Amino acid sequence: MNISLVDLKTQYKSIEKEAERKVNDVLSSASYIMGKDVTEFEKEFAEYIGVKHAISVGNGTDALVVALMACGIGKGDEVITTPFTFFSTAESISAVGATPVFVDVEVDTYNIDVTKIEEKITKETKAIMPVHIFGQPAKMDEINKIAKKYNLKVIEDVAQAVGSEYKDKKCGAIGDVGCFSFFPTKNLGCAGDGGMITTSNDDIATIVRALRTHGSGENGQRAYNLLNNISEDVKTSEDHDDTVYNPLKYYNYLIGFNTRLDTVQAALLRVKLPYIDEWNEKRRVNAKMYNEKLKSSSLTLPVVIGEVKSVYNMYVVQSENREEVVNQLKERGISTGIYYPVPMHLQKVYKDLGYKEGDLPVSEYLSHRTFAIPIYPELTQEQKDYIVNNIVSICR
Ligand SMILES: *Cc1c(COP(=O)(O)O)cnc(C)c1O
Repeated sequence: MNISLVDLKTQYKSIEKEAERKVNDVLSSASYIMGKDVTEFEKEFAEYIGVKHAISVGNGTDALVVALMACGIGKGDEVITTPFTFFSTAESISAVGATPVFVDVEVDTYNIDVTKIEEKITKETKAIMPVHIFGQPAKMDEINKIAKKYNLKVIEDVAQAVGSEYKDKKCGAIGDVGCFSFFPTKNLGCAGDGGMITTSNDDIATIVRALRTHGSGENGQRAYNLLNNISEDVKTSEDHDDTVYNPLKYYNYLIGFNTRLDTVQAALLRVKLPYIDEWNEKRRVNAKMYNEKLKSSSLTLPVVIGEVKSVYNMYVVQSENREEVVNQLKERGISTGIYYPVPMHLQKVYKDLGYKEGDLPVSEYLSHRTFAIPIYPELTQEQKDYIVNNIVSICR
């Protein structure tokens, strides 16, 4: 039996008819940029997360970059984050000219260790960027408390955690801003690149809307006025189809980006969003089964803290002899993935930051031990039994 780490085809099959109809509608409407499905999806996503504004962008990395800029973070600033994450988290901080400051993680949840944040705060620190890694919320109460004490912004990296909850609040609605990715392998994925920024802060939303489209037009003017303390009403004119011609496009107020969610992607995501809770629940059921059936194996299983609902974007276990286990699983047709082999502070690109081996020992320890096994919602009973039986026989 061959089981891949993620299986995008089976999920697509389950929504194929509706998806093709909706995507075809967009194709024949010829409203490809900022079409109706984009604004409708933004409304639906904001409601789902429980925030005032959801503003779509081109991908999750851009979501982080634009969110940082909208929070006024740039050259000379420091942002506290985790080293045990995908590169985009740190990269976005560097991209705006700020410096990532890495705080070690917890060995059992893989999330940032909140007891080690305060000692890293300096007068340059402007924000904390927690990552809800593998779908499990970071300890947001403690993070928000520290942020409040030192007047820092909290930018959540929710790229792996659409629908995860912390004390009945959805991730992306707990800090000042939430940043999402719809990369195909995330738990809510589109058919290409896509991203979203969520916030209930009107000012941040205004600046984000301007930055995603060259700081131009009405949104650009609103953001400009806001940043320069100009009180002037900017009228909202008729909806423009940006695909063809929008006269306001040629008046620029800020240096921004071109980072938008394609209408085709928004249409597909509108088809998928109603299923996300069901898909997440299936991931949790699979995780519960693994927790039960693998507890007597030699693997160390992921720990979920109380009062949260993880969405298990990945189910990441630890083994003392990872390479051997991964190879044996591969021989039996079971795919795995190593998340993450090199913590951010030891990446070549960051050698100038001056970290050395041993500085963040938990992340380093995990980087030699962790790997993900298949957890996607469409796993069949037969596949799950096959995975469990093989792991139990390999990891005695
Ligand atoms: C995937 C991911 C991103 C980046 O998302 P893209 O859409 O691929 O740009 C950022 N942070 C984390 C933790 C991710 O897993």
